[in-house]
Amino acid sequence: MEKKKTKIVATISDRNCDVPFLEKLFQSGMDVVRMNTAHQSIEDSRRVIGNARQVSDRLALLIDTKGPEIRTNSTETGLEVKTGDLVYVKGAPDVSSYDNVICLSYRGIAEEIPAGSRLLIDDGDIELVVKSRDNDFLICEARNPGIILGRKSVNIPGIEVKLPSLTDRDKEFVQLAIDEDIDFIAHSFVRNKEDVIQIQEILDKHSSKVKIIAKIENQAGVDHIDEILDHAYGVMVARGDLAIEIPYAKIPGIQKMLIDKCIQRRKPVIIATQMLHSMINNPRPTRAEVSDIANAIYSHTDAIMLSGETAYGKYPLESLKTMANVALEVEKTKESIHDIPVEVINNEISAFLIKAAVEAAVNLSARAILADSMSGRTIRSLAAYRGNRMIWAKCYDRRVVRELMLSYGVRANYMKPTETSHDFVRLAGDSLLHDGVIDKLDLLVVIAGNFGHNTGASYIEIGTVENLINKTVRA
Ligand code: PEP
Repeated sequence: MEKKKTKIVATISDRNCDVPFLEKLFQSGMDVVRMNTAHQSIEDSRRVIGNARQVSDRLALLIDTKGPEIRTNSTETGLEVKTGDLVYVKGAPDVSSYDNVICLSYRGIAEEIPAGSRLLIDDGDIELVVKSRDNDFLICEARNPGIILGRKSVNIPGIEVKLPSLTDRDKEFVQLAIDEDIDFIAHSFVRNKEDVIQIQEILDKHSSKVKIIAKIENQAGVDHIDEILDHAYGVMVARGDLAIEIPYAKIPGIQKMLIDKCIQRRKPVIIATQMLHSMINNPRPTRAEVSDIANAIYSHTDAIMLSGETAYGKYPLESLKTMANVALEVEKTKESIHDIPVEVINNEISAFLIKAAVEAAVNLSARAILADSMSGRTIRSLAAYRGNRMIWAKCYDRRVVRELMLSYGVRANYMKPTETSHDFVRLAGDSLLHDGVIDKLDLLVVIAGNFGHNTGASYIEIGTVENLINKTVRA
């Protein structure tokens, strides 16, 4: 069966995570299981992790932190507002909202939010504008009618409040990720490199190899993307909050810019949120959703994400299949290679060979590129060219196999380290033949190294599988 190259991250809830269900999602193209800790306890996440691990040791796991956030406090009935109504807003974490006073979970509200700011409540459904301040209260005017309920999100575009990047709850989930040797932590509301470094320091203290995905969901994160990429393994374009924090018309351009930056740095990128939103309730996607997926793929994303569609929607499997099917079709109509300049990340020779290997595979219509990898770096660099040939990665570390589940066009497997690069080609070729993935007359482009694993790729060899395996001295 033809495999899609675009990777799919599916959000899985502890309420719907039975092994047979996850198995079906995996068979249909799910590459990474995402746990949204905003809606899960530690125990809930452990259940998802345990079940996902029964499905396959190649299925990657991602824990998404809640990050710093402000919410409305509980209220008995909610506060109904009409356009022009005055609402009093107070920062008081332990006080329920009352009368026309909305209490928020963050104490510093009145002090830090200037007049003229906008408070967007419940994913922007209700907009309040700050008119003035009266001691502990902000006096706000409602810009549209609605009911302000408890525990709803509050976004304040353009304002950086002094909330810590990593909450106590987030720290517990970071510890869970360390204890369970999870593959990725996606950290919410990353604003700058310090937000990434803070988690990296905890990971380093525990000698953990968990990789950090920076969720870009506000203007500060967009502005500081270069320094964030110096420290993060990859990026998630978290369009849910991003489109509240930044005018929505700017989101497509920002999405494109963030993908380009990630490719330039050879880092995986995920496009997230509302990709098939209507399929939470309907068995078929809207035309716009199909085009949104296509646009992300034409813009060269590594991965696309399902949120509520698989977490609590009525049609989780249909959503997954729809996404995989659209990806497969769109990939057929993409250009055969993304013509980006060579970028020397750590090794000049490898960098040039990597581009040449992808060009050769594409131009010779080879069956695939075969490469081995210790850390995954060579493979991610191959993936950056988004060639229309699969990259078969043989990894000497099972964790790297799962990390590569986020990289475009890569199919990774574990393999024991070999003495020589010829042994690698012979054993890898044999196992691919044995698995029925290739035919002995298929053309392969091999990129490998002859000077030890730390030196990187040193040569490209092209031939049929048969010739590559049975390679002998010249006659
Ligand atoms: C988003 O805002 O798009 C997102 C992915 O984050 P969350 O689901 O945690 O709101």
